[in-house]
Amino acid sequence: MVNGTVIPVGSFGCLTVDYWKRSATNVLWAFLTHAHADHLQGLSDTWTGAPLYCSSATRELLLVRWPDFRAPLISLELDETVILRAATPYGHATVQVTPLNANHCLGAVMFLFEGPFGRVLHCGDFRWEQEYQKENLHPILTSAPLDVLYLDNTYAHPRCALLDDAFR
Ligand SMILES: [Zn+2]
Repeated sequence: MVNGTVIPVGSFGCLTVDYWKRSATNVLWAFLTHAHADHLQGLSDTWTGAPLYCSSATRELLLVRWPDFRAPLISLELDETVILRAATPYGHATVQVTPLNANHCLGAVMFLFEGPFGRVLHCGDFRWEQEYQKENLHPILTSAPLDVLYLDNTYAHPRCALLDDAFR
C-alpha cells in the first residue's frame, strides 16, 4: 500500500505526491506519479483538493476512469521543467518541477522538485535498468546533487514473496 508523500516547500505550505488524504493542510499542489490503483487510494472524481498534476497519459487514464473529475487536472510534459506558483495568505510560493520517465508503466513519471527547500526527487514506482538508464538518464538528474530522495520500497519488505522469487 502506498501512503503517499508530503513535501514541505517552505513556510507557506507543502506539495503532495500520491497522497490523497483530505486531512492534509496547506497543500498547494498535488502530484500523481502514475495511475496504478495503489497510488490512487483515497482519490476519486470528487477530489476538491489542490490542483492535480500528472503526465498527459496519466491524465487521459484518469479521465477514462472518472470522466467528471472535478478538480483541475493538469498534464505536464515529460522532461519539461515548469515553474508553478501559488498564492498563500503569507505570500507567493513557487516550485520548479520536472517530470521524468519512470520506466514503469504507461504515463509513469518521477518528479524532480526544486526550490528554496532544495532538490528533491520522488521516484514513484521507477524501474531501474542499467541499459535503459544509460541511454535515457536525463542530464538534470546529474547536474547537481539531490538533497532528498524518496524511494518507494513497498516490495522490499521481507513479507513480499515477489522479491524473494525474483532474486533466487
Ligand atoms: Zn505502479
